Amino acid sequence: MDYKLAILSSDAQTYSTLLAEADLPNLTIEVFDTFAENNQYIQECDIIFGAPDRVSRAIPYAHNLKWVQSMWAGITPLLSPDLSKNYTLTGVKGIFGPVMAEYVFCYLLMHERKAFERYQHQLEKVWDETPPGTLQNKLLGIMGLGSIGVDVAKMAKNFGMKTYGYSRSQTSCDGVDQCFIGDQLIDFVKDLDYLFCVLPNTPETTGLINKALLMQMRKTAVIVNAGRGNLIDQDALADALEQGQIGGAVLDVFLEEPLPSDHRLWQTPNTIITSHTAAMSVPTSIAPIFIDNYQRFIAGRPLQYTIDFERGY
Ligand code: NDP
Repeated sequence: MDYKLAILSSDAQTYSTLLAEADLPNLTIEVFDTFAENNQYIQECDIIFGAPDRVSRAIPYAHNLKWVQSMWAGITPLLSPDLSKNYTLTGVKGIFGPVMAEYVFCYLLMHERKAFERYQHQLEKVWDETPPGTLQNKLLGIMGLGSIGVDVAKMAKNFGMKTYGYSRSQTSCDGVDQCFIGDQLIDFVKDLDYLFCVLPNTPETTGLINKALLMQMRKTAVIVNAGRGNLIDQDALADALEQGQIGGAVLDVFLEEPLPSDHRLWQTPNTIITSHTAAMSVPTSIAPIFIDNYQRFIAGRPLQYTIDFERGY
């Protein structure tokens, strides 16, 4: 049996080249930058490999669709209640952990070594002998123990940190000293030196970090959010930073992206904004996920990283 694949992305040509090199059997491939309603190929295709925002516009017209492989970790546009879920959706997992660990520990180490203050003093030609801190024995909480959180936990152990983890259901996890679930959120955050958040965007994760929770955290705690912006009440966070209720924030993701130029978070003290670059999707990493899943698809084996539409991740 032959399958029709539509690649739908601004990088479609690059993906097409990478897939051609894999010489996948029984597959016809067409590439599209964006979707147009009169696109007959997409109306008939079996598989779409694409960016979720573009794919979501094609779903109502793709009447023959069996499988969508997302090119992004975040699949929110495809969860819209108006869209058909009558196909298998697979996400991108298992590739971001090491890069995300570099991101997290870059900022944790800069914080401990007082890198920003020292550079400021350098500009003023001040010999700054303030002793640095250390990550050893500091307590890192990881909110989200999925494919990324686990890699960050293991790296934390290399730095001699203590680790807590928070998820919906996991009561034990590699590299995590103590696991918390569901309504144990306050117990999870209250003693942390660092909180790294890497939760998906779902109705249940929206606003979990709010004023009440921030009030329970240590005044020196630093929050790093690289999951999705819906997690944090941004005004409550800006208030907490301005009032010294928490020590700092490293923010990669926001409710609105790009963060509007007049947003107060740009100028909130002790805040670093990293513009959704923490662990970026690159074709050479994403294409192998499609290739492996296509081989499973034609062999009738279960696909990797299937999204549960009910859970939203
Ligand atoms: P996974 O799907 O592997 O894991 C998700 C984790 O979140 C699981 O541990 C799950 O718990 C937990 N979780 C989900 N909902 C809740 C909830 N309501 N309460 C508590 N825990 C919850 O995801 P990944 O680790 O692969 O990725 C996580 C997110 O990171 C992605 O969805 C994406 O949005 C973001 N991301 C951001 C990037 C960036 O550059 N900023 C790059 C890549 C990803 P359980 O184990 O119990 O199911």
